[in-house]
Amino acid sequence: MPAAKSKATKLDVVIVGAGVGGLYAVHRLRKLGLKVRAYEAGSGVGGTWFWNRYPGCRCDVESMEYSYSFSNELQQEWKWPERYGTQPEILRYVNHVADRFDLRRDVQLDTRIRSATFDSKANLWTLKTDKGETVTAPFCIMATGNLSTPRTPSIPGLKSFKGKWYHTGLWPHAGVDFTGLRVGVIGTGSSGVQMIPHIAKQAKHLYVFQRTANFSLPARNAPLDPEKERKHKAEYPERRRAAYDTPFGIAGFPPPEKSALEATEEERRHAYAAKWAEGGSISYLYAYNDLLVNKASNDTASEFVRERIRATVKDPKTAELLCPTDHPIGTKRLILDTEYYETYNRDNVTLVDIRSAPIKAITPNGLHTTDAEYTLDAIVFATGFDAMTGAMKEIDIRTDKGATIEEKWADGPRTYLGIMMAGFPNLFMVTGPQSPGVKSQMILSCEQHVDWIADCLQHLRDKGLQRIEPEKAAEDAWVQHTNEVADSTLYPLANSWYTGANIPGKPRVFMPYVGGVTAYKKKCDEVAARGYEGFMLAV
Ligand code: NAP
Repeated sequence: MPAAKSKATKLDVVIVGAGVGGLYAVHRLRKLGLKVRAYEAGSGVGGTWFWNRYPGCRCDVESMEYSYSFSNELQQEWKWPERYGTQPEILRYVNHVADRFDLRRDVQLDTRIRSATFDSKANLWTLKTDKGETVTAPFCIMATGNLSTPRTPSIPGLKSFKGKWYHTGLWPHAGVDFTGLRVGVIGTGSSGVQMIPHIAKQAKHLYVFQRTANFSLPARNAPLDPEKERKHKAEYPERRRAAYDTPFGIAGFPPPEKSALEATEEERRHAYAAKWAEGGSISYLYAYNDLLVNKASNDTASEFVRERIRATVKDPKTAELLCPTDHPIGTKRLILDTEYYETYNRDNVTLVDIRSAPIKAITPNGLHTTDAEYTLDAIVFATGFDAMTGAMKEIDIRTDKGATIEEKWADGPRTYLGIMMAGFPNLFMVTGPQSPGVKSQMILSCEQHVDWIADCLQHLRDKGLQRIEPEKAAEDAWVQHTNEVADSTLYPLANSWYTGANIPGKPRVFMPYVGGVTAYKKKCDEVAARGYEGFMLAV
């Protein structure tokens, strides 16, 4: 092995991942004078926005919100062209941030971290890369993302398929031209629903293989209104602050005061129709104050969307198949689309129900369900991710005391605040399980976590401490609290990636913290103010 490779790179903090969270960690920790470096498997920065390049990929949080707040100059100067950012726009923005704040010199691309081992005597993490490099640092930050481990179901025969196949989360950089092809899309979550209208416009014929129908609302995307942009920018600092006083980390949605059951049928219809016309998921779920906690209330909101589906899709059988019936609206990620349901009125689009007739095998020429054969030139897997725990579990994380991430999370993730784990000192996570991350404006949550970690590292330095680890009791209490909060809502009723239900054999545990950003940030701030309550600190 060349000498350069056998010599360890010594850092103060090693960061895994150069997505939105990892990049901000580089910026923030460098300001503390720390020697940091982010290791990124991709050949570019941007994380989820680097990998997910499928046609129609777009953020479902409005662009004026879905952006960094740490630099007022940045947020004032950047111009978002549309209400919701497209993947290329967001990736351009992230690259601009990397250049503007000179982050690239501390980012190493094309490098996957394979293992991370803690030496408890030396208080040192040693990471090994897929290039044979060794990196050591007293502190390690996993900024590995929640939806960064794509999963392709193991359907027999895929290797024999003569056409091309793709996963939405690993999309070719050169793009894919489906013109004149017979295309099969498997999966109708956010990724499938966003891409289906685009592929339908190109393909000779598009077969959508749907196992479970999902709720989708119109995004109502449009060019950003200049007056709205001017006003938003004038209010930016106050809006960013106010975002922390909201459940989802997004300001501008006054909390509803009334239960859906307190309204008359006519009032409800009027309210849902107004939200449907406005576009956006928070807006719809904010029609009433109990849509995510009261099944009877939720039924009214769910039924309104089913009515819209039936009114939009001309073929009644297809419309009925597209009507979700297995979960209350909002308990799975509520999808935003542009002309998704309308797409099923095209002559070249067929919805195939693989709930009643599952996929049996992929063949050289297409796909077999239990009752028919489909000839396909291309197959797209929009089948999702091993969410929230997948990326960390792909790294062999262990300590010299015998703790392994594999065992630690065998029955589902256990964390204190979604930031650290008992038994794994000096290992931080950005928006880990049991934090509100995926149930919030992700960039706000990334910033909040990185700021908390930076303050914590500063505290340790000020006090001459070298080690921090959660107490097991504090972790147990947080896990229990997370579960209790989830159980007081309708969320656990859905088979979603929030619960791990999308991965065969994955423990079924509700992973995000759904007590809201306000309560969560208050707890994090209190923990810090009380000298890192629930953590063991040591020299
Ligand atoms: P997903 O929500 O997990 O959806 C996966 C789809 O694939 C589901 O319809 C699922 O059906 C189907 N599927 C999985 N395994 C299958 C199998 N073996 N056979 C047949 N069908 C199968 O994944 P996603 O659409 O990639 O979205 C994941 C998350 O990423 C979203 O919830 C969202 O948070 C984020 N995302 C956001 C945006 C945005 O900002 N607009 C866009 C894309 C993704 P079942 O439901 O029956 O399992």
